[in-house]
Amino acid sequence: TTFVSGRVIVTHDSKTSTWHCPCIDGKFSCTHKATAKWHLFEKMPKMFETAKIPKEDFTCDEAEDIGSITDEAAERMIKYLISHKKIPAQLPETLVTSSRDAKALSGFPKHLIPSEDACTECGQHALGEPQLISATAKILTLSGLVTGISTYRKTCLNCDMVYRYQDWQDGVHNFDDHLLLSIHLCLLLRNALQTHTSVGRIIEIIELTERESFPNKDRILQAYLSFEGLTDHDYLYACDSCGYHPAVVVMGVHNEGVFSLPVSEIPNPPQNYNGEVNAHSFWEAVTMEVISHGLYPPGCRNPFVVEPTYHNWSPWIGPHTRHSDILLNTESEKVCMPDLSDGVDQYLTKEQLADEVLNLKLSEIKKLCKKCGIDGRGSKLDLVRRLRDEMDSSAIYNQVFKKLRGASGGWAVITCPCGVVYSLKFNLRAERPSDFADLLLSWKIFPNITVYDNASGLVSHINERCPQDTPFAIHEGTLLDHTAENIRQAAEHNLKVNLPWLKRRKQPEDVGGHPVTGSAEHYCLSDNFHQSNNKQNSDILRHIEIVPELAETLNSQCAEQLFADMRKNNYFLNRLTLSAHMFLQRNIMHNYNVRKNTRAKEYM
Ligand SMILES: [Zn+2]
Ligand SMILES: [Zn+2]
Ligand SMILES: [Zn+2]
Repeated sequence: TTFVSGRVIVTHDSKTSTWHCPCIDGKFSCTHKATAKWHLFEKMPKMFETAKIPKEDFTCDEAEDIGSITDEAAERMIKYLISHKKIPAQLPETLVTSSRDAKALSGFPKHLIPSEDACTECGQHALGEPQLISATAKILTLSGLVTGISTYRKTCLNCDMVYRYQDWQDGVHNFDDHLLLSIHLCLLLRNALQTHTSVGRIIEIIELTERESFPNKDRILQAYLSFEGLTDHDYLYACDSCGYHPAVVVMGVHNEGVFSLPVSEIPNPPQNYNGEVNAHSFWEAVTMEVISHGLYPPGCRNPFVVEPTYHNWSPWIGPHTRHSDILLNTESEKVCMPDLSDGVDQYLTKEQLADEVLNLKLSEIKKLCKKCGIDGRGSKLDLVRRLRDEMDSSAIYNQVFKKLRGASGGWAVITCPCGVVYSLKFNLRAERPSDFADLLLSWKIFPNITVYDNASGLVSHINERCPQDTPFAIHEGTLLDHTAENIRQAAEHNLKVNLPWLKRRKQPEDVGGHPVTGSAEHYCLSDNFHQSNNKQNSDILRHIEIVPELAETLNSQCAEQLFADMRKNNYFLNRLTLSAHMFLQRNIMHNYNVRKNTRAKEYM
């Protein structure tokens, strides 16, 4: 069946009961498919009665037993790989070229044997003979597959430590002893992600061009993630020109980075949880997970998977910008106040939501109807159709949204005026000013100027949270005292407040002044762009246009541009597991920062 939605052609294969749209691959939903499905639901409901659930390609039972190791051995191996086998962030040019040409020149070694001869764990004991793990391993390259590769492991006869082949110097990245990627392909995938092209799309391009069929795409994505996991990125998250402590920051939330995560599935934090998390250990665990997928076949219980919890869920702030490894995360305080009224944009159409409701069990849908005060009798389709029709009411839309998406809050982002990302926080729940407060209060040095849509909300939150030492002690972080005269002048665009230290360091500097500006003043301002969001009169005294030094240089649309770019990644990010999504987002933003810094250098 073919359906034309706008200019996009959506097709339905009734044999496999799958939907296809050129805008997204596989079984994942998009607006076009949702619209098409709803259209066909109305026209030919019969078609859907026999709908089947598509089968997973690969399961645990089919996995080979050879090479499976205990959880303890896996942990030792992963830790060893992280400490001894890291791939340099800057790979030598010659290595990349030879990896690129190796397929054509038959340059890849056929037998991949670990290079270790002695055990590093128990004091130089000799290792046993190499054991063959697979004689049919494949190397994926940009020009197709290299097959018939043999992979081996070695085991320490003394302490049982297992060594596998992981020598990037040969131009290959070993994922799971069966699937390997050429280093050149890994770099290509990295750049593809920078241009908002998913790993799946690149693989499809190669398959079409080479007329070959590659292994499962999700597995290839995991293989790529393990490459990034083993790459020695510094994740500095800092701009070369603004340094580790920028004086001016722009904050925003990328609301659409939302997953299907029912809130009820996140356990409540322990009673004594103090709202702090160790960023170093958390991100190490996420990195270990990413590498562990190469040791556990898909569908197997993997003890390294990091499940989302309020008390073990960490933002990322660069190592020199943060106060210490201990960061604030007070999200659990949101648990008692589920409120969707502000901060959440309605970005999913009611058709898309209805489409997702269909995946729920009938009993769940009945419960949802009851919550929304909608008649719960009839077939699944009747109920979903009824819900869809009522979703024009935002109360009902929010109920449904909350049920499906757990009202997770997307990414809170802090950038410098150049648009380099300094902090990322993935919110499990809808965004609040407290998320930005968590980030800023985890910084070593509080910036002089903070630009944020909900400036007054942030200031009142911080003033309440730190009554003794709030950075916004003077007229609530506005530029001037809230007199009627000041507000009138600002409204008439006649108000100017010079902050010369933004251009030339203050002399003599204030006590406790910012290292860049020498000033100890703190303002929480808003961009002209979002004027309409501001509710209080005095908020007009937060306009960045009042400060000539800012109006000239601050392009807060940098953040808007960044979010527009991030939105283009939704189609592949939003269907990863939460921890993989976190890992990949932090990685993509890091590579984005590196690119921004390099480009800035080239202009100088
Ligand atoms: Zn589509
Ligand atoms: Zn040993
Ligand atoms: Zn900068």
